Amino acid sequence: MAKSRELVREGQTLGEMVQFGIASLALTSDSPALDSELLLAHTASCERSVIRAFPERVVEPAAKAEYERLIERRRGGEPVAYLLGQREFYALPIRVSAAVLVPRPETELLVDTALSYLPLESPGAVLDVGTGSGAVALAIKHERPGARVVGVDVSAEALAVAATNASALGLDIELLESSWFDGLGTRRFALIVANPPYVETGDPVLEDALRHEPRLALDGGPDGLDAVRAIFGKAPAHLLEGGRLLVEHGHTQGERVRQLATIHGFSNVRTLKDLAGCDRAVLADRAQ
Ligand code: GLN
Repeated sequence: MAKSRELVREGQTLGEMVQFGIASLALTSDSPALDSELLLAHTASCERSVIRAFPERVVEPAAKAEYERLIERRRGGEPVAYLLGQREFYALPIRVSAAVLVPRPETELLVDTALSYLPLESPGAVLDVGTGSGAVALAIKHERPGARVVGVDVSAEALAVAATNASALGLDIELLESSWFDGLGTRRFALIVANPPYVETGDPVLEDALRHEPRLALDGGPDGLDAVRAIFGKAPAHLLEGGRLLVEHGHTQGERVRQLATIHGFSNVRTLKDLAGCDRAVLADRAQ
């Protein structure tokens, strides 16, 4: 009995702790309640629904201290995904570290679109250039187990994260260290997908993101299109006849990316919009 009284005195309830988190993050986060619930569920080892259903439940002092540390780091701008070590993408838990970009919800568009061109039976070979955490490659493999999926990245550290994800999810994809297509020899694919760095070097959004996320994954050079140009230039040599290239880009870059596709001889060039209605990706066919 004495022990549980002590716990009540030292600890705090789930409800009080969420309120503390919300108040602490009000000025730094767009989603203080969600962030607080996610961090508390993580440190108190419970589901988010438990926080709502049993706000009077008392949390162990060690978990409380850990939660307060995480709230403080979140207040400093660290993404929740890095604090939790994972982020859900296309319904898969994807582990992340500071070596990789946190998968964004809008990038699920790449997977949706890729799947619509990959038949369940014999989907063929798919390449994800600049795979990072492996999120896109793994989501495609999960939905199309028959596909031969290759993910390349120039960062060995990122590839290690992708490899951890592949084995944690039991998904057999090939991972290769390569700057864009350089390590692929003459290999060709039915579909190439990419979420390259596309933020303009001078964009204030970049400076903010770079406090925690890798420059390699975000900085697209002066006009944001350095990586996109490299991909459109080199992809044709790695596409099978009838193959397609699908590239994510910034919401103001649609027209310029369509032009790049046309300059590099692609046909049937079209822009895809994300759920917010913004231009978000270009899909183009290799010229016959
Ligand atoms: N959408 C990301 C952002 O705005 C950028 C991702 C990228 O450059 N591939 O932070």
